[in-house]
Amino acid sequence: MEQKADKELTDSTGKKKDRTNKRVPERQCMGCGKKGEKSSFVRIVADEDGRAFLDLSGKAGGRGAYLCRDIACLEKAKKRHAFSRSFRKEIDERFIAELEKDFFDITKV
Ligand SMILES: [Zn+2]
Repeated sequence: MEQKADKELTDSTGKKKDRTNKRVPERQCMGCGKKGEKSSFVRIVADEDGRAFLDLSGKAGGRGAYLCRDIACLEKAKKRHAFSRSFRKEIDERFIAELEKDFFDITKV
């Protein structure tokens, strides 16, 4: 059996807990909480009616939230009800299911 040796170990060493400085340009993944540049995430936008969709252009209006390009993070976000929290409104599960499909399309290799 072959084992992957090149597995990246991203241990969260040196955790910072400054909640006072929230005005950072960094984006944070709704699923795993990882922070990073906007370009490393997939943007998700919700409109007034609680419809959430993938914003691949990064230019759609509305409140945006971010996820790593990893279906696992979408799953985590779902479990944590991060969608409703991030968008400050209920996001219908139907739209999350749609999102999931689109997400699969862009993350599959
Ligand atoms: Zn993530």
